[in-house]
Amino acid sequence: MYFSAQEMLAQLKGTDKRICDLVIDNEIEISEISREEIISMLEERYQIMYHSSHDALEKEITSLSGLTGGSASKMWNYYQKGSMICDATVIRGAAYALSCLEVNASMGLIVAAPTAGACGILPGSLFTVAEKYDVPHEKVLEALATASGVGQIIVKKATISGAEGGCQAECGAAASMAAAAIVEMLGGTPEQAFDAAAIAMQNIMGLVCDPVAGLVEMPCAKRNASGVANSLISADLALSGIFSEVPFDEVVEAMYKVGKALPSTLRETALGGLATTPTALAMRDKIYGTQASSSACSGDCASCGGCQ
Ligand code: SF4
Repeated sequence: MYFSAQEMLAQLKGTDKRICDLVIDNEIEISEISREEIISMLEERYQIMYHSSHDALEKEITSLSGLTGGSASKMWNYYQKGSMICDATVIRGAAYALSCLEVNASMGLIVAAPTAGACGILPGSLFTVAEKYDVPHEKVLEALATASGVGQIIVKKATISGAEGGCQAECGAAASMAAAAIVEMLGGTPEQAFDAAAIAMQNIMGLVCDPVAGLVEMPCAKRNASGVANSLISADLALSGIFSEVPFDEVVEAMYKVGKALPSTLRETALGGLATTPTALAMRDKIYGTQASSSACSGDCASCGGCQ
């Protein structure tokens, strides 16, 4: 059992085990199932992630609200044309991430890793790197275990909920999980994996949760695409030998404090940030057919009726 990166690293010290080994061993112990069964469960998650990250690439999937759709296929076409500013790995991963969010917004099946709103970052970044380096399939499954170990620590020490900690808690957690998974998958040390996770979380610290119309679509989809770039650069930084001066555990604790300091208007209530811009309010009214007040809820439902 472990409750922090520090504890994990202490348990790994002097062994040739990786974070994923520790996570799988821990799961074997607490769930009383075999390694084969755990790998098979990871395979199930992988398959769902794979399909959700590919389903919207070739065909446009529009959300039920009509707010989002078609971005994954646009990004995929752009990637296939081969003329892009970023490296192809980033663009392919961003297309995968957008696909996951579009599948989610159309009520399709995704893996909440760690949440539905941030479901594109881990598969987007992990799969594009695995393809680039032709990583054996079992290693990709093990990388999912690495990611889950990092996610477990964030849950234990802080939160992965946008309603509690803002988008930094959702997209930040996903980027941390992905960055660590990539580093370990490519042969980096557990210390480097946690450095990558710490850097990814620092990069997004303070990001508010302000979904337009209260739906997990906008700006969520684009933040997942950007989250892929965040994971990849954080993994590259760690693999180059650059470390996080502030250890992962402290970064997570800082993120939690920042989340607690955010006003409720910026924690998934759609009462602040992008959600209350004139354009976003017009979108909301179009979706719900209301002219609800843009100010915080007064509790006077009879005279408002905005959310009914
Ligand atoms: S903006 Fe809010 S709902 Fe959207 S991904 Fe971020 S935390 Fe989730």
